[in-house]
Amino acid sequence: MTDQSATDFDALRLATPGVAGLSPYQPGKPTSELERELGLSDTIKLASNENPLGPPPAALAAIREVLPELALYPDGNGFALKQALGEHLGVAPSMITLGNGSNDILVLLAEAFLLPGLEAVYSQYAFAVYELATRATGATACVAPALPAGDDAPLGHDLAAMASLVSPRTRLVFIANPNNPTGTALPLPALRQFIEQLPEHVVVVVDEAYVEYAQDPAQASVLAWLDEFPNLVVSRTFSKGFGLAGLRIGYAVSSAQIADVLNRIRQPFNVGHAAQAAAVAALGDHEYLQRSRQVNREGLRQLAGTLDALGLWYGADAGNFLLVDMGRPAAEVYTQLLKQGVIVRPLANYGLPHHLRISIGTHAQLERLDQALRQVQHA
Ligand SMILES: *Cc1c(COP(=O)(O)O)cnc(C)c1O
Repeated sequence: MTDQSATDFDALRLATPGVAGLSPYQPGKPTSELERELGLSDTIKLASNENPLGPPPAALAAIREVLPELALYPDGNGFALKQALGEHLGVAPSMITLGNGSNDILVLLAEAFLLPGLEAVYSQYAFAVYELATRATGATACVAPALPAGDDAPLGHDLAAMASLVSPRTRLVFIANPNNPTGTALPLPALRQFIEQLPEHVVVVVDEAYVEYAQDPAQASVLAWLDEFPNLVVSRTFSKGFGLAGLRIGYAVSSAQIADVLNRIRQPFNVGHAAQAAAVAALGDHEYLQRSRQVNREGLRQLAGTLDALGLWYGADAGNFLLVDMGRPAAEVYTQLLKQGVIVRPLANYGLPHHLRISIGTHAQLERLDQALRQVQHA
């Protein structure tokens, strides 16, 4: 059957105003799509901040073991994974909420705390899902101007500007630390002051998707503050440092009260068997995580070398990617790189039409990127 959209039928008009006002999230182009479109093979993707090492070997083994159980529903309470996370993080399992990726967590928070007439605060150039999650509920998005490109944290979150947007209608504040796509990280003392001055009716979400890439993740995290702030939520994922983006598994750590709220609205089986088992195994695969950090550190240095040689400005390096200012419409550069089989991420939908985001790959992948980018810039 082909889609015969009846002329009078208008699904968008039937949708709630928040939904009708949204544009779909633009994911990085899959390599299979590029290969189909341009008849290329051997393309590389440095567009979605995925882990270039592939999944952790221990996770693959754990997935193989659960295959015979796939006819059964997964454990809806995620007992084993919450237990393992609790030990890993030093928190009670009752403080953990599992999500189908941390994207699921962000959407659950918006559904739980926002309504039309209420507000969420986040920064310009913050992770795109905050806007999607907020506006889908019909709530108002209050977007604080980012720091200037010349700041020590170029285009990063301006906590003073964010604080000035908090009102009696604010229910959520989203902070990505480090932030995607700017690569900036906030100094923890400043972040702590920001959280201290928030009124009690505001839930503050610190999204630590890239925390595993920090020199010392425990020191880079706000997790230790959960005892003091019952309105604090820390969001984490297995998609980046743990190399499991395709499985969709993330989690929130918060007061047990907020976990209880999220638990009431999440889908009963929002995280599958394989994802739960793989995440437990990944937590124990210390060698993999160490290698991830090492490859990322080396890759950041390699990519910075390429960009320095081409005289291109790039942003902060707290994640597994760099934000690059091409000094001209970046869509052209993106398209030319595609023709050479290299997928990066254009950021026009973030309001950064001159910028690309390039994820850290293996040494060989970044070598390919180096060659391709030199060709494009010297053409
Ligand atoms: C990649 C990313 C996530 C993770 O999304 P998942 O749904 O867990 O894959 C969350 N927050 C930020 C800032 C990210 O860049």
